[in-house]
Amino acid sequence: MSQLRYKFDSVVSLPIPDMQLKEIVEKAKDWALMHGVAMRSKTNFSEDMLHFAPFILIPSPFPRKEFWKAIDIQPTLNEMMHWVAHNPEFLRNCLKDTVCVDEFTGNLFNVYEKVLEEGTAQKISLGLLRSDYMAHSDAGNRINQVEINTIASSFAGISSQFQSFNRFVLSELGHPDKIKNLPENNALQGLCEGMLEAWKLYGSTSAVILFIVEEVTYNICDQRYHEYELVRLQPQIQIMRCTLTQVAARARLDANKKLFVGDKEVAVVYFRAGYEPSHYPSQREWDARILMEKSLAIKCPSIHYHLAGTKKVQQVLAKSGAVEMFISDAKKVNAVKNIFTGLYSLDFDEVGNKAVQMALDSPERFVLKPQREGGGHNVYGEDVREAVLKMKDKKERTAWILMDRINPPVTSGYMIRPGSTEKPDIVDLVSELGIFGVIIGDSEKIISNHQVGHMLRTKISTANEGGVAAGLGALDSPYLI
Ligand code: ADP
Ligand code: MG
Ligand code: MG
Repeated sequence: MSQLRYKFDSVVSLPIPDMQLKEIVEKAKDWALMHGVAMRSKTNFSEDMLHFAPFILIPSPFPRKEFWKAIDIQPTLNEMMHWVAHNPEFLRNCLKDTVCVDEFTGNLFNVYEKVLEEGTAQKISLGLLRSDYMAHSDAGNRINQVEINTIASSFAGISSQFQSFNRFVLSELGHPDKIKNLPENNALQGLCEGMLEAWKLYGSTSAVILFIVEEVTYNICDQRYHEYELVRLQPQIQIMRCTLTQVAARARLDANKKLFVGDKEVAVVYFRAGYEPSHYPSQREWDARILMEKSLAIKCPSIHYHLAGTKKVQQVLAKSGAVEMFISDAKKVNAVKNIFTGLYSLDFDEVGNKAVQMALDSPERFVLKPQREGGGHNVYGEDVREAVLKMKDKKERTAWILMDRINPPVTSGYMIRPGSTEKPDIVDLVSELGIFGVIIGDSEKIISNHQVGHMLRTKISTANEGGVAAGLGALDSPYLI
């Protein structure tokens, strides 16, 4: 990895004097706990314990122009993903080798084929997307897209609370003048308005929104915020939470393909689980997924949106001529290409062989990615060479993609984690920006398309990954510079 990283100045001068630091950390922790910037404890689950989510005390600098670029491009990305999802030939071509060697993507694709064959009663899909970026310090801090999530895009709830946290901290530290550089964030409301619009399109006031959840939800506050916001916007609405296993046991379709769980009709299915193999312990959970896909309920996401969000599709979209298949306006096409970084297939062809060689020659320049979501699955640094060496003669390699490693600019700050010492050290940090989008439509038209807000996650500069739920990252807000 390049060691010559760009460095941003911290938003307030560091270090903060000891006494003041101790006091502000204490206040900040309580603020976070009292406003649901929190998660369920992984060690104390039986006692229903919450702890505050790891956070960055002082908001991290983010290039203003690049922030607005990310905001502006979201509707175009929404649109592109919508048409990708509705192009069976493209999806099939992208994934044809992957589904043979990656069992989970194969299973998702089987669901898709079933739906294509037998049809679905609901043509409309709801997409709540999150496109993630890092500024690339080797390219003038231009944003590069890390990935786009089409399922279980999280942290809109907590992030929307978190902007007031930063206001509070900056005021407390005597910098109220700086608050103006924190952009508004209404991600939670925007996503919930999207869900509500889908619920209205379904057209039955007694039908519920069904959240598909994991057996144990650690990121509970973020999810609950969606529930509370939905009820605030539409007091009539009812929300149910079920695991795929519970859906398998309790769901059925009536003669009109209406989905019922128990005696409740379901208008919208919102997947906060279902994106990783462990969420499907048996065939029954896959059958439940198929049942929902075929139903009249509006899915967020439907299976084709889910597949459009795979890393393999992202890689194919970066090939020359691909974006043009889905976006006609040349200016928009260029804007999309401008946020892509190098993405390479590991197929058994000239391009794939070249990528294998590049990974072996300079593994530190790349990230190796399987078709997984939720963080913690990628391979970095020397491990890239080892992994590629191991798989280079096996079919398995086609299930992976290689991506140029992005080197974000570094800033200094304080990361506050539950149970950490009273006086945190100054550490070097790097950030990843996520922009939320809402899209509703069917194979013929787009009904709704918006950008709705953002989140910022920050990690220690030397960490490979920074998922907040996965444990290495911390919540943050962009401070525009
Ligand atoms: P997931 O779907 O599991 O979140 P990502 O593609 O977002 O997969 O990768 C997880 C994390 O790995 C990112 O949040 C980021 O911290 C790091 N990462 C991914 N791609 C790159 C890249 N090209 N350069 C640098 N870091 C990356
Ligand atoms: Mg993802
Ligand atoms: Mg990610």
